[in-house]
Amino acid sequence: MTVPLTATLVRMRGTDEAPPRCVALEGEIGGAVHCAIYEQRPGPCRDFAPYAPLGIGDDACDRARCRYGLPPLAL
Ligand code: SF4
Repeated sequence: MTVPLTATLVRMRGTDEAPPRCVALEGEIGGAVHCAIYEQRPGPCRDFAPYAPLGIGDDACDRARCRYGLPPLAL
C-alpha cells in the first residue's frame, strides 16, 4: 500500500497522483468513504484535522473537499 521515498520514509500509494486518492480509501467520494486501515493509519493521517473531534473545522480538509466540489464540512 506504500511507495518508498527514502530508506526510512514511505508514502501511501495513490497520494501523489492527480487527483490524489489513497489506496486505502474505500467508497465513493461525495457518498460514503472510509479508511480501510484506520486503526493502522500512518502518522500524517493521525495529525490531519486534529481538532475535528472537538467540532473545530480544518482549512486543509475544506480545501480537499472543495477539489471534489464538496462544501466545507459542517461540524
Ligand atoms: S486516513 Fe487512511 S485513507 Fe486517508 S490518507 Fe490516511 S491511510 Fe489513506
